[in-house]
Amino acid sequence: MIIILKQNAAQESIDRLRSVLDKHDVKINEITGAHKNIMGLVGDTSHIDIESLMAQDCVENVQRVQEPYKNANRKFHPEDTVIDCGNVKIGNGSLQIIAGPCSVESEEQIITTAVAVKEAGATMLRGGAFKPRTSPYSFQGLREKGIELLIKARSITGLPIVTEIMSAADIDLFADIDVIQVGARNMQNFELLKALGRVNKPVLLKRGLANTIEELLMSAEYIMSEGNQQVILCERGIRTFETMTRNTFDVSAIPLIKQKSHLPVCADPSHAGGLTSLIEPLSLAAIVAGADALEIEVHNDPRSALSDGGQQLTPARFAEVMEKIKAAAGFMGRSIV
Ligand code: PEP
Ligand code: MN
Repeated sequence: MIIILKQNAAQESIDRLRSVLDKHDVKINEITGAHKNIMGLVGDTSHIDIESLMAQDCVENVQRVQEPYKNANRKFHPEDTVIDCGNVKIGNGSLQIIAGPCSVESEEQIITTAVAVKEAGATMLRGGAFKPRTSPYSFQGLREKGIELLIKARSITGLPIVTEIMSAADIDLFADIDVIQVGARNMQNFELLKALGRVNKPVLLKRGLANTIEELLMSAEYIMSEGNQQVILCERGIRTFETMTRNTFDVSAIPLIKQKSHLPVCADPSHAGGLTSLIEPLSLAAIVAGADALEIEVHNDPRSALSDGGQQLTPARFAEVMEKIKAAAGFMGRSIV
C-alpha cells in the first residue's frame, strides 16, 4: 500500500498518521521526493481501512499495490535509484561499462586485460573467482586467490571490481569487493539473497536462465526486504527453443524493468548471445533500450581461456566495439564516466 502525502502537510498530522500505522504490523518506508512525499507500507495491509487513512489531514491519496514486489516497485520509489559502486555510479543517467574476463586465471591475464579494458574506456572490471560451471570437471575458479588478483588489478587501474558469489559462507571474502554479482544459476538461492540483504554493498543480480521478469524483481525483493537497497538488475538472456545463440536476449526486459522498478538495469550481451559477433549489436540494442550498464567479457587471449572462450572479445576488438558504444551512448544522451 502507498500513502501519498499532501505537499506542505503539517508535521503533527504526519505524526498522527504514523501512530495509526504503528498499530498495524507493517514496515513504513518514507520517501521524500522532489515532487511527492510517499509512505510505502510493506507487510500485510489487508486489515488497514483506506477510508480512515484518507480521513487524515495530511493524506492526499492511498493506493493498494497489487504487485508482490514492494521495495523494488517504482510506485514505492518514483525516482531512479542511483548506486555507488566504488568511484562510479550506476543509475544516474550515465552508462557504465563493466568489462573483463569470464574467469580470473592468472596475475598476468587479469592485469593485462584490466589495463587494456581501462585503456579502451571501460569504467569497471569484472572477473569470476568462484565459477558456476555446468561440469564439476571444468575449471572452478581461483577462489580466494582470484579475489586477491582482482584487488591487485583495481589498485593498478583504479577500476572498481565486480565478482560472483556462489555461497553465503564466502561473504567475508568479498569484504573488499565493490559489487557482488549473483549469477543466473543462483537468482533463486533465497538464503544467499537474504544474506546479501544484510550486507552494505551493491549486488548485481542476474536474471535466471528460465525466470520471468516478475521472479527477478521478487529476488531483488528478497535482498531489499533485509535492508540492502543497493540492487542492480541484469538481463543476460533466457533459455528458449533457439539453438543458434547461447540464450535469447530479452531486450524488452530492459525498458519493462525500468517501468516497473526504480532499480538500475545492466545488460550482458556476452552470456545472452554466447558469440563474439553478437556483442556489438546486442550492446547497441541494450543502450537504446535504456540500459544503465553493460557487462562484457574480454580476455587478453580468448583462445586459451579456461571458460567461455567462444564469447570473449580480444582487447583490440573490445576497443572497436567501445567506439560504437560511445556513439550509441551519445545518441541516448548518456556519458561514460
Ligand atoms: C558470468 O558472468 O560469468 C556468469 C556465469 O554469468 P551468468 O550467471 O549470467 O551465466
Ligand atoms: Mn562467463
